[in-house]
Amino acid sequence: SIPLSFFAGIGGASHEGVLVKGSNYLEAMSQTKYVVFDKTGTLTKGVFEVNGVHHSEMEEEKLLEYAALAESASSHPISRSIQRAYGKEIDRTRVSEIEEISGNGVTAKVDGKLVAAGNDKLMKRLGITPIACHSAGTIIHIAIDGKYMGHILISDVEKPTSKEAIRALKSAGIEKTVMLTGDAKRVADQVAEKLGLDEVYSELLPSDKVAQVERLLAEKPEKAKLAFVGDGINDAPVLGRADIGIAMGAMGSDAAIEAADVVLMDDDPLKIVKAIKISKKCIRIVY
Ligand code: ADP
Ligand code: MG
Repeated sequence: SIPLSFFAGIGGASHEGVLVKGSNYLEAMSQTKYVVFDKTGTLTKGVFEVNGVHHSEMEEEKLLEYAALAESASSHPISRSIQRAYGKEIDRTRVSEIEEISGNGVTAKVDGKLVAAGNDKLMKRLGITPIACHSAGTIIHIAIDGKYMGHILISDVEKPTSKEAIRALKSAGIEKTVMLTGDAKRVADQVAEKLGLDEVYSELLPSDKVAQVERLLAEKPEKAKLAFVGDGINDAPVLGRADIGIAMGAMGSDAAIEAADVVLMDDDPLKIVKAIKISKKCIRIVY
């Protein structure tokens, strides 16, 4: 039978904006030693700013328009930022055959032309050689009908409490903090360094994120538990694989909330520390 105080713990946690889907997760959470984070939208705001449009064969405004139209069906933070930078109403009748390739980007027919917008991986898939060298931010390459047309430079910033949350997790006895991301190594390493994470793995596809979590699960001490924190549609498989899947609810996708064991009602990374502390307190009361 489940001790009554578990329910009290779940109830108490919910008052703090921490929704736990079962008493077993409360117990597992109290034994967390590894905390693995997704980057975009979890440790960073997930609100990219467009810093520049670099074009070669086409006017800047036109390039941005093709990119925004190709990205018009996606709710990915990168798509939203490109649509925002474009700023005009999008005529969806000009767009067809939209395909979103997770961890890569999008392709779509715009005015009958095949537009691709995404990272190096996407260009490679299409046999296109991107021409761009920048030291700051994420680069979204644009190709039209197989020809390289330029790129959009975007950047995201860390959430104001991310660094403090990593430090507080360490103080609370967490042995390892890890960041997983589909973003470029250069960008990922900068963020990890700034936040003081122990390990960082970048340029990962959703399936690579699952593989990394499986590797960490095999590596960790037997009794220790691994928590994964994410918010995106892409994160659902990883949330399911971790001992404790934690979704950041306020901006999180329905798929992530569905797959999670614990849902945080807001996007503040300090809530993760709070959740672990609540679980420990509750378990102390039970035993
Ligand atoms: P993260 O792991 O940081 O949450 P994603 O897996 O969602 O990131 O995306 C990884 C990378 O794939 C992005 O940094 C970007 O280069 C590319 N990408 C993903 N979705 C899109 C999109 N809609 N448009 C352009 N590029 C994208
Ligand atoms: Mg993400």
